[in-house]
Amino acid sequence: MIINLAKLMNSNDVKHRVSFIMDKLVLPEDIKLESPLEISLDIAFDNQIITVEGDFEVHLHSNCDRCIENASFALNVTIKEKLIKQSDLCYLSNLSQETIDEEYQVLYSLDLDLTDLVTENIILNLPTKILCSEACKGICPYCGKNLNKEKCNCANEQIDPRLAILAEFKK
Ligand SMILES: [Zn+2]
Ligand SMILES: [Zn+2]
Repeated sequence: MIINLAKLMNSNDVKHRVSFIMDKLVLPEDIKLESPLEISLDIAFDNQIITVEGDFEVHLHSNCDRCIENASFALNVTIKEKLIKQSDLCYLSNLSQETIDEEYQVLYSLDLDLTDLVTENIILNLPTKILCSEACKGICPYCGKNLNKEKCNCANEQIDPRLAILAEFKK
C-alpha cells in the first residue's frame, strides 16, 4: 500500500485517515498472517512534520521454537512515526543528528510505503521466543518425541558423560 503524501498535503485537511487490508506480510522466521490485517492509520501534517499513527491487533502464526508444532499468537502494535522530507531537514537544524536518527524517518520520496512501515513496526514487537504455549515441553533431544504428546524415559536413562568416561577406564 503506497500513498502519495503530496496529494494529501495539497488538500485542505491536516489530518487524513487511511484504511486498508493487508493479506500478506513478509516477516522473519517463517511468521505468517493468520487472518487478513485491517489497518487504519491517521496521517497528520504539522508544518514540516508528518505523523503516522494507529494501533491494531495482528494475528500471526509460526512454528513453536521448542516443539516445532504450529504456534498462533496475537500482537498489539502501536504505530507512532514522525516523518520528514529530506529537503525539509534544515527545519530540524536545532536538533542533533542523533535525535533526528532516533525520532524521525527521513523521506526521500513522497510515495510512502505503508506496508513497509506496518511491517517494520510488527517486527519490532515480535517476541524473542515463539511458543505454542508457555508450558510447552518441547522435543526430547534423545529420541525426538514431542513431549507434549508422549512421554519417554530418555532423561532418566542418560548417564552423565563424565561418569561414562570413568566407566570406560574401568574396562
Ligand atoms: Zn511447542
Ligand atoms: Zn526421549
